[in-house]
Amino acid sequence: TELSKIRNFSIVAHIDHGKSTLADRLIQETGTVAGRDMKAQLLDSMDIERERGITIKANTVRIDYTADDGQNYVLNLIDTPGHVDFAYEVSRSMRAVEGSLLVVDSSQGVEAQTLANVYHAMEADHEIVPILNKIDLPASDCDRVAEQIEDVIGIEATGAIQVSAKTGQGIHETLEAIVTDLPAPTGTRDAPLKAMLVDSWYDSYLGVIVLVRIIDGELKKGMRVKFMSNDTLHSVDRIGVFRPEMETIDVLGPGEIGFLTASIKQVRDTRVGDTITNDRQGCETALDGFKPAQPVVFCGLFPVDSAEFEDLRGAIDKLALNDASFTFEMETSAALGFGFRCGFLGLLHLEVVRDRIEREYNIDLITTAPSVVYHVYMRDGTMVELHNPADMPDLTHVDHLEEPRIKATILVPDEYLGDVLKLCQDRRGLQMDLTYAGSRAMAVYDLPLNEVVFDFYDRLKSVTKGYASFDYQMTDYREDNLVKMSILVNDEPVDALSMMVHRDRADARGRAMVEKLKDLIPRHMFKIPIQAAIGGKVIARETLSALRKDVTAKCYGGDASRKRKLLDKQKKGKKKMRQFGKVDIPQEAFISALKMD
Ligand code: GDP
Ligand code: MG
Repeated sequence: TELSKIRNFSIVAHIDHGKSTLADRLIQETGTVAGRDMKAQLLDSMDIERERGITIKANTVRIDYTADDGQNYVLNLIDTPGHVDFAYEVSRSMRAVEGSLLVVDSSQGVEAQTLANVYHAMEADHEIVPILNKIDLPASDCDRVAEQIEDVIGIEATGAIQVSAKTGQGIHETLEAIVTDLPAPTGTRDAPLKAMLVDSWYDSYLGVIVLVRIIDGELKKGMRVKFMSNDTLHSVDRIGVFRPEMETIDVLGPGEIGFLTASIKQVRDTRVGDTITNDRQGCETALDGFKPAQPVVFCGLFPVDSAEFEDLRGAIDKLALNDASFTFEMETSAALGFGFRCGFLGLLHLEVVRDRIEREYNIDLITTAPSVVYHVYMRDGTMVELHNPADMPDLTHVDHLEEPRIKATILVPDEYLGDVLKLCQDRRGLQMDLTYAGSRAMAVYDLPLNEVVFDFYDRLKSVTKGYASFDYQMTDYREDNLVKMSILVNDEPVDALSMMVHRDRADARGRAMVEKLKDLIPRHMFKIPIQAAIGGKVIARETLSALRKDVTAKCYGGDASRKRKLLDKQKKGKKKMRQFGKVDIPQEAFISALKMD
């Protein structure tokens, strides 16, 4: 296809503002999919995504469109992941296109993810077409929202297209705007191949499918190509495009977006953002900005039933085939047995993987406290990355610790602002900015990631009745007074419950944990001390009293010596149990104890 007839774009929006519905409409309006094959939300392929209404993997579709100028155009839509955890994937897919449709729900207005995503688009130098969606709703207020877009984002929005992705109103105008307002791609056909690896996923029939954007040169079937980040060579056995189902073609030229397969076995061998070129006389420089995905949140996954460990291994192996950003290694815990220590891009990513294991593989899991990656600086000048509080080195060798910080953007209606500021304060946040747009406030906070991974998002939702929106990005590592808090049950440390906390918050959290555990652990025949400790120092303690079998009940009054004998016997029995017996800690204790109020 001629460059001047190609338009590549993505859609940026806050969750639920109508990105998928709009994409479906564009596909439908252009006849890309026959009406009867149309099912709602074509681009959201995974079940979980569909249920939760989030798009996790980038998807793409090629649309043929005959514009009002009588010319035939090829429109390539890349659907970017819509959640903060996948910021790097979003920024890469943005680099693969020249423009964005900015979709804002005209009954709601700009939200935190609208901002985060539109900033990615701006960073990628996109031309941006603002769209006010859901104009069929009675609460729709286009003037107010257009003004808000101008105030908060700083792009012209008075002429924004008014759309109802539900009724189809404004869809034709949207297609015309894509052709007239977005730039055509540039590139050189007779140059060495230079293509960006935008995304990849595993298909059980074809192996790994690689989504590519051609910058220069041509990609043809049968070619040998090189992945520049790891210098691996592959023979291309198939290339094609998505309509949205796969259609093979012979060549992809500059500006085009499509896929290749090359008998690649693992998604791990394909890295998002990598540059693909010819095996010989390839392009000289790779595209800039490539970085391998880095997990930032770690937790242990253990089967509730230890007999299911091998099944869990199988499930994790399979999931990892298709998700290179998720890492795992075997872990053993005295309390929980065999399991895996897994690394994720963020909390949502963690939840998605955990849900899939439970649902698709039918394995009940215990998830230990999510932990961020700490940098532990040793006295000898070396630094170790700490992924698991249980591995915290001996304090006598530790000089200091650094923790990851984030920049969080929260948008919230005025009336809830006070509660949000308090929440951020309680979580060791530093206010960086506070501005107003209409009746909404935008608070920007510098927060420690470890305060966010527990239940920050849930708390935020509950104090704002669901009206706040939240987005974050990692900023840097900074030193703070961090300590490892251990939990001891019956004087035994329970490794799965240990966590890193700020020293100033340790007492409160330790107290809350032991109180919770006291309610969660059933009484035994003996007394059970439950303690929180830092190093050797106990900072909180509760005692679970013993179940007392009333052995004297049968001795109707009378004989005092007989009574004493029985009580002695009982004491001995208790001692025995204390020595050899094990405390049963119910599974839900592990999850509940970590939730803070
Ligand atoms: P996404 O999260 O941005 O992909 O949003 P979806 O496309 O999944 O839409 C979220 C919800 O809004 C769904 O229930 C849609 O049916 C609904 N929706 C999308 N567009 C419109 C619209 O123009 N009008 C109305 N009334 N509802 C819409
Ligand atoms: Mg969607």
